[in-house]
Amino acid sequence: MTFTHVLGYPRIGADRELKKATEAYWKGDIDREALEAEGRALRRRHWADQRDAGLDVVTVGDFAFYDQVLNVSLLLGAVPARFGAEDELARGEVDLDTAFRMARGRAPSGEPAAACEMTKYFDTNYHYLVPELHPEQRFRLASSRLFDEVAEARAEGHAVKVALTGPLTWLWLGKGRGEHAEAFDRLALLDGVLEVYGQVLARLAEQGVEWVQLDEPALAQDLPAAWRQAYERAYHRLQAAPVKLLLATYFGGLGDNLSLAVDLPVDALHLDAVRDPDQVERVVDRLLPHKALSLGVIDGRNVWRADLAALHDRLAPLAARLGERLWLAPSCSLLHVPVDLAAETELDAELRSWLAFARQKLDETVLLGRALDARLSAEDEARLAEAAAALAARRASPRIHRPAVAERLAAVTAADSERASPYGERARVQRCRLALPLFPTTTIGSFPQTAEIRAARRAHRHGELADADYQARMEAEIAEAVRRQEALGLDMLVHGEAERNDMVEYFGERLDGFAFTRFGWVQSYGSRCVKPPILFGDVARPAAMTVRWSEHAQSLTDKPMKGMLTGPVTILQWSFVRDDQPRAATCRQIALALRDEVADLEAAGIQAIQIDEPALREGLPLRRAEWQGYLDWAVDCFRLSAAVVDDATQIHTHMCYSEFNDIIGAIAALDADVITIETSRSDMELLDAFRDFAYPNEIGPGVYDIHSPNIPAVDWMVTLMDKAAERIPVERLWVNPDCGLKTRGWAEVEPALANMVEAARVLRRRH
Ligand code: GLN
Ligand code: ZN
Repeated sequence: MTFTHVLGYPRIGADRELKKATEAYWKGDIDREALEAEGRALRRRHWADQRDAGLDVVTVGDFAFYDQVLNVSLLLGAVPARFGAEDELARGEVDLDTAFRMARGRAPSGEPAAACEMTKYFDTNYHYLVPELHPEQRFRLASSRLFDEVAEARAEGHAVKVALTGPLTWLWLGKGRGEHAEAFDRLALLDGVLEVYGQVLARLAEQGVEWVQLDEPALAQDLPAAWRQAYERAYHRLQAAPVKLLLATYFGGLGDNLSLAVDLPVDALHLDAVRDPDQVERVVDRLLPHKALSLGVIDGRNVWRADLAALHDRLAPLAARLGERLWLAPSCSLLHVPVDLAAETELDAELRSWLAFARQKLDETVLLGRALDARLSAEDEARLAEAAAALAARRASPRIHRPAVAERLAAVTAADSERASPYGERARVQRCRLALPLFPTTTIGSFPQTAEIRAARRAHRHGELADADYQARMEAEIAEAVRRQEALGLDMLVHGEAERNDMVEYFGERLDGFAFTRFGWVQSYGSRCVKPPILFGDVARPAAMTVRWSEHAQSLTDKPMKGMLTGPVTILQWSFVRDDQPRAATCRQIALALRDEVADLEAAGIQAIQIDEPALREGLPLRRAEWQGYLDWAVDCFRLSAAVVDDATQIHTHMCYSEFNDIIGAIAALDADVITIETSRSDMELLDAFRDFAYPNEIGPGVYDIHSPNIPAVDWMVTLMDKAAERIPVERLWVNPDCGLKTRGWAEVEPALANMVEAARVLRRRH
C-alpha cells in the first residue's frame, strides 16, 4: 500500500491562533502556561487533521513558537553569548523567553539584546532566524521540546514521524559572526553538530520513533565541493542512529547533487516532483532496492487543486515498480500555503472549486494514494470525479482566458520595451522640464499610515463610509501630505499612498484576474502573516487605478508629483500565481496592464512615475544557471510597463535590498531614469557595484534608515552623500530615505526629512 505523509503542516492555525497567543504573551496579556496550552491545542488539532485525512503518520517537529530553524539552534544549544543563557545551556534547557529574545531582541523575561538576523528561507517568503556561528562554538543538547511533542503525539495514539532541519542545511543557513567571520568555515563545526544530532536521534528511538525526516533543501542549490563531501561524511555518521532516516529535498530538483543524494546511506529519499518532475525517473533507476522513495507530487507552494487523474496515470507504472516503497506527499512542508479552504465562504463557488489549501492537500495526497492502490470507496470515486470536473471547468473558464489579453500579448514587439531615446537624451529633456536643483530631494512614496487613515479605509471597506466621503477623506490626507512636503522644501513630491492597504493588494483589487481570500494567511516570520492575492486568470485593467489620486495631488502643487505604481515582477512575486502558463507570461500580462496606467498618468500631466520593484531580486531561481533566464523576462516586463512614455516623462524605480553586485547588469537594463535604493546601513559601499559597472542613469542612495526611529543628523547624511559622490557623478545623485515611511509617525518623519533637505542644501553649496 502506498504510504502517505506530509513534510510539515502550517502551525499558525486556521484562525491565526498562534499569532494571537504569542502576541498576547509578549504583551503580558496571557501567561506562559496559557501560551503553552495554545501550542498544545494547535498541535493536537493539526495531528488530528492529518490522521482524519487518512495519512499513515502524523508529522511532529514542524511546530515552533517562532521559527523551525531557531528550534534547531536551541536543540543544539547554539545560543549567542549576549543572551546570557549559560545557566540554561548548562541545565540543558533553553528557556522559551531566551528563544523569543533571540528572535525579537526582547521577551517578557530576561535582558533585551540585539536580535539575531532574519532572512528569507530559500526562495520562499518565509523568514528564518540565521544561526550565528563562531569558530569556538560548542554544541550540546539544550531543548527537550521536540521530545515532549513526540510524547504528546504518542499519548494521542498517533503513529509518529519526526521532521527536523538536517545538519547540513542548518549549517548552510548559518553565518559566521564576530572576528574572522568572513574566512570562517562553517563546516569546521560539523562534527560538533553531528554529535548532538546523534543524541537527538538516539533519544527519539528510545521514545519509539521509527522514522525521522531530515530536511535538506540545501541539496536543491549549487553546493561547493566541500559541502557535497560533507553530506557524505555526515550521513555516513548518522547512519549508525537507531532510527530510519528520510532525507527530504525540495524547492527544486537535485540537479548535479542527484547522485550524491541518491547514494547517501538513508532509508528513504523525498523528491520535489512538482518543481522537477523529470528527476523522478532518473532517481528511480538508481535507487537501491531497500530504499523508499517519497514523491512530493502535490504542490506545497501553491494553492491550486492537483490534477489527480494525470498524477495517477503518471505514477501508476512507478507504483507497480516500487510497491510499498512508494510514498506520496506534498512537495514541501505545507507551511507555505494557507490552512483551510473551508473557511473561505465568501469566495465564489467556482473559484473555490479550483483551489486546495493545506487541509485539502492532505485529502488529495490520501486520495491519490488510494487511487494508486485501487482501493477507492464510492465516496472517493465521487471526490475524484468532482476534482476532475473542477479542473476541466477551470481549463475552459472564460474568467481565465480572455481573448483580448492574448491578442494584445501576441501583438507586443521588442520595440514596445524600448524608450524612444537613450538615457542621455531623455535626461536633457527631463532636466529642462523638471527644473530640479543638483541633489534633488524626494521620498519613496508612502507617508505615515496613521490610525485615522486605517480606520477610514476600514470603514469604507465595510460600507460604513460612503465612496464620496472616503474620497474626500483621502484627498484631505493627500493635501496634508503635499502641504508638509512643500513646507519641508522637498523637490519632487509624492501623494503619500494613504489609500493603499498594501502595495500589491491595492493593485490586485483593481485588476481583473485576481481574487482575495479572507483567511488565506501564510506565516511570513514569527507571528507575522501575509495574505497573498490569488492570481487566477488573464490580467486586465478595467479602469485607471491611481490616476485620480495623482492628478489631485499634482493639482495642489507646482512641484513635480511622482506617480506611484507597484511593478509587474513584485505583483507576481507576492501573489499565488496561476500554474497553467509560465510565470513569465503572467508577468507580461501584468506589465501590459501597468503600461496602460503609466500612459494614463502621463496623459494626466504626471511628469515622473515610480514603478517599485522591491521583489525583483527575491524572484531569482535557486540555481545560478537559471538566473539569466529569469532576469531576461523580469527586466523585459518592467521595461514593457515603463517604455510607453515620452522622453520627457521620468521613470523611477525603487528597490530595498542590499545586494546588487551579482544582478547589476539587470538593474541597469531596467533603464529607469532614476533608481532609489536602500544604502544607509551599508555606508554607501553598495554603490561600488554601480560604480564598477559604470551604471549610467541616476541614483538615489537612501541616506536614512526608515526602520529606526532615530532622527538622522544633517552631517551624517552629508557624509553619506559625500561617499556616494566619490562613486557616482553628482549630476546623477538624488537624496532620499531608504524606503517608504508608512510605518513611522509624522513626529519622526518631519524632523528627519527637514534634516535631509538641509543636507541637500549643504551639498549643493559644496558642489
Ligand atoms: N512606494 C512604496 C512605499 O513607499 C515602496 C515600498 C517598498 O519598497 N516595499 O511604501
Ligand atoms: Zn523599499
